[in-house]
Amino acid sequence: MTSSEEFADLPSPPRALAAVIRAARESDVSIDTLGKLVGADPSFAIRVLKVANSPIYGQRSRISSVRRAISVLGARSLRNIALCAATRACVSRERIADFDLSKFWQSSIQRAAAARLIAEHDADVEFDPSEAFTASLLQDLGVLALLMRRPEFAKDWNGFSSLDPTPRRDKELELLGQTHDELASELSQAWGLPREISVPMRFHHDPSRAPVEERPRAHLAHDAEVLSAVLNSTDKKRALSNGRAMLAGRAKVELSLEELLSQLPDDVQDAAHALGLEIEAQPSLEEILVDANRGLSELNLSYEDLLQRLEQTLEEKEQLARELQARNRALEQLSLTDALTNLPNRRAFWGRGVYEINRIARNGETMCVAMADLDHFKSVNDTHGHDFGDRVLEAASQAFANAIRAADMVARIGGEEFAFIFPGTNLEGGLVAARKINASLRTVCLTPPSGPLYTPKVSVGVARIAGVYASEFNPDEIIMRLLKSADGALYAAKDAGRNKVAHDPDPISWS
Ligand code: GH3
Ligand code: MG
Ligand code: MG
Repeated sequence: MTSSEEFADLPSPPRALAAVIRAARESDVSIDTLGKLVGADPSFAIRVLKVANSPIYGQRSRISSVRRAISVLGARSLRNIALCAATRACVSRERIADFDLSKFWQSSIQRAAAARLIAEHDADVEFDPSEAFTASLLQDLGVLALLMRRPEFAKDWNGFSSLDPTPRRDKELELLGQTHDELASELSQAWGLPREISVPMRFHHDPSRAPVEERPRAHLAHDAEVLSAVLNSTDKKRALSNGRAMLAGRAKVELSLEELLSQLPDDVQDAAHALGLEIEAQPSLEEILVDANRGLSELNLSYEDLLQRLEQTLEEKEQLARELQARNRALEQLSLTDALTNLPNRRAFWGRGVYEINRIARNGETMCVAMADLDHFKSVNDTHGHDFGDRVLEAASQAFANAIRAADMVARIGGEEFAFIFPGTNLEGGLVAARKINASLRTVCLTPPSGPLYTPKVSVGVARIAGVYASEFNPDEIIMRLLKSADGALYAAKDAGRNKVAHDPDPISWS
């Protein structure tokens, strides 16, 4: 391997190939001279034969001599083949060990095949498609040069290879302070590259800056990169739309993007074969389209999925809120209910009492409170057991609940003690209600474990509040006094012989 002193750190072509490249540039070079130069590197001679026999040159009969191959290919194509071979030969894996060289070659060949394909089908392209092929193959030689100078970045660069050309170039600038196209002039000098190759190499990222007469070559190099990106891109949908935009700028191309893409993978494989490079299977047009559409449907799916999950979460949240509300209601109900009889308990009685006091204070109504206590209940328990006593309590509760009006309230506030609220009821009404309570047990008939049927009896005491309410009152205190008054009356009923109704002759005052 020789290297010019100035560009010692740049890749340079092996001696034998450098000689072919130099000689092929001369307009009057003979096939004899070229044949000798090619023959000096046997592996290159085999390569030349292989290319001459490949579908790219479409020969019908098999070519077996190097001279014949050179005359079929022509000096220019020979030079291009020598350039390709030199490019491969000069980059050793050792020098940029971490770099994915096969990926680099694969994308170079894809780009080269794309350049030739566009050149073949665009009537506005006036130069030879095989020149376009070689120019695009060498287009990114600067990348190799960059990484040979700075091998420590080779690993990072592998990650960039799936990026689009422009962001990839931005990454180079960010990381290395230099881009691969900027190295083109140095490389072109070192390699003695003709302008048809060096100009696209320099300007493929920014064709508008190329000298006017050479701009079409730079444009083609740029567009070849856009077309070949469809094969590699992980975002096929975007790559396809870039391809369509590129084609829209090439009015004379009679083929559609789909037609170009159905041709391209085969061209890539043929080129790789001719250049002796192993590449991955290329995606077919169908695979590209399926991939692009799958991206779309995955996007839709994940959106629908998200929406569904959101709805599910909301539904779960609402369900939880409903359950929580129901539980709270149940808890509250439990805290207000007597477990044995299911009647409201003392707390519930108190709450309702406060509410009714406040209500009648506003509307000027009156109300009665009554207390009832089962007669001789202790002896029921003593005689028939606690369980029977409980059954008596349940039956009496049921009877009391049935005896009162819907607007009235009965609560179990103690062992066998019940309290009643009769809203909007004066003493007369209260006494009627108390008698109904007393009478309600007459139809209750229970079978104790032994002995005759049992019918409980109850004493009831009635209390009332005075009709005129004071401006200041304390509902809790009023309820307490009402209960005390009713309890007094209840004991009067007990004293009078039980199974009776009595009332406190004095109403409770508001303050
Ligand atoms: P009086 O006619 O004077 O009211 O006589 P009494 O026996 O009913 O009076 P006392 O208040 O002395 O007795 C109440 C009894 O009620 C005491 C207790 O055995 C019974 N008791 C209280 N709570 C319960 C209960 O939840 N279940 C049962 N089975 N008995 C209860
Ligand atoms: Mg009792
Ligand atoms: Mg009692």
